[in-house]
Amino acid sequence: MTANPQTALEIAADVRSGSRLAAAVIEPYLAEIAQREGEIHAFNEVLADGARLEAAAVDRRVAAGEDVGPLAGVPIALKDNMCTRGIPTTCSSKILEGWKPPYDATVVQRVAEAGAILVGKTNLDEFAMGSSTENSAFGPTKNPLDTSLVPGGSSGGSAAAVAAGFAPLALGSDTGGSVRQPAALCGVVGLKPTYGAVSRYGLIAFASSLDQIGPFTNTVADAAALFDVIAGHDEKDSTSIPEAIAPITPHLEDGAGGLRVGVISELTGSGPLADGFEPEVLAQTQAAAEALAAAGATVSEVSVPSTIYGLSAYYIIGPAEASSNLARYDGVRYGLRVEGAANTKGMMIQSRTAGFGAEVKRRIMLGTYALSAGYYDAFYGKAQRVRTLIINDFNRAYEDFDVLLSPTSPCVAFPFGAKDDPLTMYLNDVATLPSNLAGHPAISVPFGSGRNGLPVGVQVLAPMLGERRLIQVAAVLEASQNGAGQ
Ligand code: GLN
Repeated sequence: MTANPQTALEIAADVRSGSRLAAAVIEPYLAEIAQREGEIHAFNEVLADGARLEAAAVDRRVAAGEDVGPLAGVPIALKDNMCTRGIPTTCSSKILEGWKPPYDATVVQRVAEAGAILVGKTNLDEFAMGSSTENSAFGPTKNPLDTSLVPGGSSGGSAAAVAAGFAPLALGSDTGGSVRQPAALCGVVGLKPTYGAVSRYGLIAFASSLDQIGPFTNTVADAAALFDVIAGHDEKDSTSIPEAIAPITPHLEDGAGGLRVGVISELTGSGPLADGFEPEVLAQTQAAAEALAAAGATVSEVSVPSTIYGLSAYYIIGPAEASSNLARYDGVRYGLRVEGAANTKGMMIQSRTAGFGAEVKRRIMLGTYALSAGYYDAFYGKAQRVRTLIINDFNRAYEDFDVLLSPTSPCVAFPFGAKDDPLTMYLNDVATLPSNLAGHPAISVPFGSGRNGLPVGVQVLAPMLGERRLIQVAAVLEASQNGAGQ
């Protein structure tokens, strides 16, 4: 039994009605953190005092008859690459150690306005580069289900915080799978919204054409509620979608009747990637497809041929954008500066050498190379053309299907050190990257278990702004398992 099993929606209903105090809600979460955080290391910083103050403020507003918002009194954990005013924001990198942003990210503001209580900043792979949190400069996060295993990444701390019962809600960022993959490995729900649906203002940039912020929750209904709070136009983010984003919560119970579901053949055991997927993961994906058929959906296989090139394209485009975004960490403007060099250039070199970890340096070098004169067309230009092919292939598939289905991760949670060469780690992202390259939304829902009884995540994909379809289908998958008692 998970500690603190209440859903965010239950908590908010209690606090809004005055039947429970936010000040009382927060204590069992802080107690669980006090008990298990030493072992799990989900957080870079726990904000117990701040959380108690915020909870008391919510209670005062409820007592005064104010509408405190849809997440009243609900504890939330935020990935430590989202700016929080006056609170250290490190990206789990030494180069930002001690830096306190002078402003809040838009999502931070929105969850606060909705009444949520910030319990802490969660650990991640340095600058969100990785799939296991082993690249954090402050040490890895452990999977709460089995501490000898990784929680996934890069938002491993956020996934672990929800799975451990440290908070019912968390936010992560997903550039190539970093919400969905850790959600799958920790047995929770993870949603990557449409590119531009959620403001990236105050999210420390990794790869700006791919980055999106998304929710981690225990239930599909909570994911929908948190999405509804954070989605919507923000003039501070030039890539934010200008049109209003309709709430998805009203569609939770729409069911799967009549929906056309396509199971992506390239990501479910056919073609060149066939060997990469664990058989139990494929079996659960198949079982999920059957559950949707049983609920009235029309299910068939579909080929999305260029998805197999997503990995190659991503690992050019992502590093290229990262190499440019990370140029700002120069020892002058933020965080760490190594003193003692003879001149400014030497200071910058020494600060970046000391401040960045091995994976971040690898990405910066890969990206700089791919963008350099003479190689730009062969690498970056080609990767962008592959990106267009992926978008075209998805668009073609969505002429015949409402949603697509695949595993989220090719494998269940793996031991620390198991994927110690970079390419093996990158291969873990094969099923999640295509959605980021296309800008499309996707959700990972826990569905049954695989090797060693560990949770499997099934991924549902939809076209631009298809979040309502995602939660419709995800809710059916969730319910089918509860019914089956899995
Ligand atoms: N694992 C991928 C990477 O290392 C994706 C990371 C992410 O989504 N932030 O780049």
